[in-house]
Amino acid sequence: MKIERTSSPKPKPPAGQLGFGVHFTDHMLRVDYESGAWGEPRIVPYGPLTLDPAAAALHYAQTIFEGFKAYRGPANDPAPRLFRPQAHLDRLNASAARLCMPTVDTAKMLEAFRELIRVEADWIPEGAGTAMYVRPLMIATEAFLGVRPANRYSLLVLLSPVGNYWSTGLAPVRIWVEEELVRAARGGTGACKTGGNYAGSLLAAERAKAKGYQQVLWLDEAHQQIEEVGTMNVFFVLDDRLVTPPLAGSLLAGITRDSILKLARHWGLKVEERPVRIEELQQASQEGRLKEAFGTGTAAVISPIGELSWRGQKIVPGDGKPGPVAQRILGALQGITSSKEADPFGWMVKA
Ligand SMILES: *Cc1c(COP(=O)(O)O)cnc(C)c1O
Repeated sequence: MKIERTSSPKPKPPAGQLGFGVHFTDHMLRVDYESGAWGEPRIVPYGPLTLDPAAAALHYAQTIFEGFKAYRGPANDPAPRLFRPQAHLDRLNASAARLCMPTVDTAKMLEAFRELIRVEADWIPEGAGTAMYVRPLMIATEAFLGVRPANRYSLLVLLSPVGNYWSTGLAPVRIWVEEELVRAARGGTGACKTGGNYAGSLLAAERAKAKGYQQVLWLDEAHQQIEEVGTMNVFFVLDDRLVTPPLAGSLLAGITRDSILKLARHWGLKVEERPVRIEELQQASQEGRLKEAFGTGTAAVISPIGELSWRGQKIVPGDGKPGPVAQRILGALQGITSSKEADPFGWMVKA
């Protein structure tokens, strides 16, 4: 693969000051699509794009992305590891198909991802809970104001070293149950990782913050069934069952969600993918049967919910503190991604 090295490498940020998505490495991957075919992937210096202001992505939002993490390998075999890259590439293609964007050859693209991680291996942070966040992004670049699928695209892969989300321990979040705005509707683009879903979600999140809550719980169009929490999938422990809403078209098929379902079934927990109504949650909470609630996604992995506000009532899962199921899942996933524990599902792929 063609590698164009930067002539001015950047200093690496101090380990304690990584944050999330604020630092970027020296290089990025770029592949361009035109005349019906993808060109060859290239590794180029990280930097601004030249983009025509009429580029379709900027007007009609033909833009999709992915997010996953890479980690340092164990001391005796230190090659970096990518967490479930094939699942993320498959989901990139699913998003592309829904938005009339070109799909990629996932085997070829995985090779390019691995090469980029190898080139930037020194940037992968070392501390517990830290990782290299990998952000693939595909945008329509054709300059054209008509409404139809564009004929030119760029796929970019950015790398961002990220800190430990829970460096001071798992902290439960306060959640506002949103009853006016919706994130996605059946038949829409809710199941795709596309920028427009995020733009449409900002207002509810801002309103929730103004009321003293950190995020919103999204319901369906009828404001009955639970869909997601913020930009994460959501799980509940109801009695002794781990319950999460099904992939019915409007929610995002999280890879973390899938990993948790596989782990929980492997452990022999009772697992249910089924619709959950907000009324059911409220009632279960009053009867003391709502033991835990937490969001799941690549960035934070697990985000325990300490309180939900619904129609002036408080729904508090368990005692409002991170519960044993959430902690067990986080521990297991961190064990696998840090290569300290066995990887029974073959999720870690060497760069
Ligand atoms: C990315 C995302 C998730 C989580 O997906 P992971 O693959 O687990 O990171 C959940 N919901 C939405 C809306 C997302 O965009």
